[in-house]
Amino acid sequence: PKVDNPYSGAKVYVNPEWSAKAAAEPGGSRIANQPTGVWLDRIAAINGVNGGMGLRAHLDEALRQKGSGELVIQLVIYNLPGRDCAALASNGELGPTEINRYKTEYIDPIAAILADPKYASLRIVNTIEIDSLPNLVTNTGSRPTATPQCDVMKANGNYQKGVGYALNKLGDAPNVYNYIDAGHHGWIGWDDNFAASATLMKEAATTEGATVNDVHGFITNTANYSALKENNFGINDSVGGKSVRESSWVDWNRYVDELSFAQAFRQQLVTSGFNSGIGMLIDTSRNGWGGTARPAGPGPMTDVNAYVNGGRYDRRIHVGNWCNQSGAGLGERPQANPAAGIDAYVWMKPPGESDGASKEIPNDEGKGFDRMCDPTYEGNARNGFNMSGALPDAPLSGHWFSAQFQQLMRNAYPPL
Ligand code: BGC
Repeated sequence: PKVDNPYSGAKVYVNPEWSAKAAAEPGGSRIANQPTGVWLDRIAAINGVNGGMGLRAHLDEALRQKGSGELVIQLVIYNLPGRDCAALASNGELGPTEINRYKTEYIDPIAAILADPKYASLRIVNTIEIDSLPNLVTNTGSRPTATPQCDVMKANGNYQKGVGYALNKLGDAPNVYNYIDAGHHGWIGWDDNFAASATLMKEAATTEGATVNDVHGFITNTANYSALKENNFGINDSVGGKSVRESSWVDWNRYVDELSFAQAFRQQLVTSGFNSGIGMLIDTSRNGWGGTARPAGPGPMTDVNAYVNGGRYDRRIHVGNWCNQSGAGLGERPQANPAAGIDAYVWMKPPGESDGASKEIPNDEGKGFDRMCDPTYEGNARNGFNMSGALPDAPLSGHWFSAQFQQLMRNAYPPL
């Protein structure tokens, strides 16, 4: 039988491959023993890419790390057809119509391995398809942010079918806990997107044989840098008769940080038909925003922009920026039960792994070049035509980015 919060009273799996890369960096041993997500980001990852560990190798090592206690291993299911439809950096190997390959060559083999009785004593957390479903709400149709690729995925329904199929097949084993990706506050925290995203998630979770009982919770902020808690201003503050919602940073969003968003979105998901016991995970791998640029207190009360910009920890140029953000730091260390409704803070995105290349790099992973990863790019409708804020000289998404890793340690908050 499933426990309410799989992270309670459990160790969390340390991925030896990430750990070795972290430990090889100067100062990296300070965090090399932290748990991070194991990304199954292509079919070949099931058996291991280029001689690396495959799923069984990770699960065997997880049994070893577990010993006689409880252990959570965190997997990321990430290979939808037409993946990353509003960006190019994490386009994948499957074309928009290849839902059958997703089912038979990707999900079915993973499900078979997870169902092996040998692994029955592990608590297996699956985070399902990062940054996918909200695209169908925010980046389609007549929205100025629409992309042709997201319109295709909305029309063919293969994101919902893929997520539903994954939930259904993977959720069968009693020791498996599925968490669906829920973007972040700077994406679905606006009124237009909030309830509509929850409705879409419910639709996905009740297709292809899945039910809401296959969903243990949701994860926010995996691909993003949104601050966990902005202490220097709140959504109900106003300056000179203007709400902080009118500041250009908040721009009418209902939330100013990830914790308040995750707790509110949990309620919305329950309202939309998910079980009342669902729990949230918040990815704090890169949202610390410490270091010398961190404001020591609230901004000046001269006007609402000065107040918000002077006080906010999140130093991004725009909340829609997502690629290798300059100035970012490691956030809260992974921990269970940190706040009401939150099952855990996790490092699902392994710190030091790039979000995307800052220039075109030929590759056989399906990865494209997204100019949001180019520090000279002046933006598009999805980031309000601002500079990208990306670090220079980044490798392909998922590849080791030493300069970013060093920056994340330098700007860690809490500090290392
Ligand atoms: C990449 C994946 C990678 C993951 C974790 C994603 O942006 O597309 O290939 O496994 O990040 O670093």
